[in-house]
Amino acid sequence: MNTTHHQNKLIVIIGSGLAAYTLIREYRKLNAEQAITVITQESGDFYSKPMLSTAFASKKDAQQLISSSAAKMMEQLNIQIHSHSKVLKIDGSDQSLSFQSADGKEHVLQYSKLVLALGADQIQIDLAGDGADQVMTVNDLQDYAIFRERIGQKKKLVILGAGLIGCEFANDLSLGGYHVEVVDLADQVLGRLLPRAMADELQAKLSALGVLWHLGTSAKTVSRVGDGFEVGLSNGNVLQADCVLSAIGLRPRTELAKRAGIKTERGIVVNRQLETSIQGIYSLGDCAEVEGHVLPYVMPIMQAARTLASILAGHDSALIYPAMPVMIKTPALPLVVSPPASGSEGSWTIKQEENGIEGLFYSPQAQLLGFALAGSATAQRATLTKLLPNILGE
Ligand SMILES: Cc1cc2nc3c(=O)[nH]c(=O)nc-3n(C[C@H](O)[C@H](O)[C@H](O)COP(=O)(O)OP(=O)(O)OC[C@H]3O[C@@H](n4cnc5c(N)ncnc54)[C@H](O)[C@@H]3O)c2cc1C
Repeated sequence: MNTTHHQNKLIVIIGSGLAAYTLIREYRKLNAEQAITVITQESGDFYSKPMLSTAFASKKDAQQLISSSAAKMMEQLNIQIHSHSKVLKIDGSDQSLSFQSADGKEHVLQYSKLVLALGADQIQIDLAGDGADQVMTVNDLQDYAIFRERIGQKKKLVILGAGLIGCEFANDLSLGGYHVEVVDLADQVLGRLLPRAMADELQAKLSALGVLWHLGTSAKTVSRVGDGFEVGLSNGNVLQADCVLSAIGLRPRTELAKRAGIKTERGIVVNRQLETSIQGIYSLGDCAEVEGHVLPYVMPIMQAARTLASILAGHDSALIYPAMPVMIKTPALPLVVSPPASGSEGSWTIKQEENGIEGLFYSPQAQLLGFALAGSATAQRATLTKLLPNILGE
């Protein structure tokens, strides 16, 4: 049975990740009273998602990654949270949505402003074999708890994907005592972010920890064998694993918006005011796309949250993205990258230092468009960031 909730003026936020909670924190600096309701499929406990790929080595379980419980968030931020609840449908024409609460009941809620902070799904590749449905992804606290439990005392892990998340897990899990093999179709690690020389250095440093690589090939099958799995590769090799982890990339969650008639491309399309194609419905975080940019990282979320908080509080504001370098949490070779915009013309200049590497990407007109810094060269981060063009300017 449907229960309908009416409230005169209510901001509803779907999601309880970094985007949702940062937005609320910023908004509360401007308005302490406005009623806010959060609906989330998660518990609503606040945790730092980037720690999911560094928590094994520090022996942290899922509970230890929670910095503030849902109850505390409700009290601190003066909000209501419907946890373990899934939004099923949005109707922009009468400003309502329906959601299923933890007890299975369906509810209808009226909103005056709605924010979609839905995040992104890990992409699953098509795999054959009777173990394909056992391939894991770690994208939230619950996934992490299940992964930790599954991997338990086991030792052998195959990671699909040598991108940022795959390499961070490879580093963390090998420090945590696991035997790690990584498979990627690209012929270098972190292909989208690093110039070749630095990718090779990272690969060598991770190899020194015991990581084995299968690059330029892809996983085709995952089959159950006893308690574990065999992973068949397109180059004919077969790997043994106790557990298979997939980390091949993220896909913004756009389905709910699409069904509501909201414009989507790669992500949910928003303007510089973070408003979607339907008035009064906004979006930010890993699910959103601003002028062609989908940036699933912490810094862009901070920028977007400040802008949207200001808009929701009734001020004029427009999103600006300065250059926002990303730290890659591979202690074997600490890295900071600010890649050039895709399709940029130019080339990398690589300078080897005693304990690091500096990679600078220059346009044909000698303008610095991006950088990748490793080891001691990461100290240059702040100086170089100031020289980079904005991603989204005034
Ligand atoms: C392992 C890992 C390491 C990372 N490391 C870094 C890093 O070092 N630096 C960096 O900058 N970034 C890093 N990132 C990226 C960063 O963590 C994300 O950009 C950020 O956490 C995304 O926050 P979000 O709020 O947009 O999405 P999420 O945290 O995914 O939140 C989405 C929320 O929406 C809810 N939801 C979705 N659909 C529905 C629905 N229909 N009904 C109700 N609720 C719904 C979900 O339950 C969830 O609460 C990392 C990501 C991962 C996975």
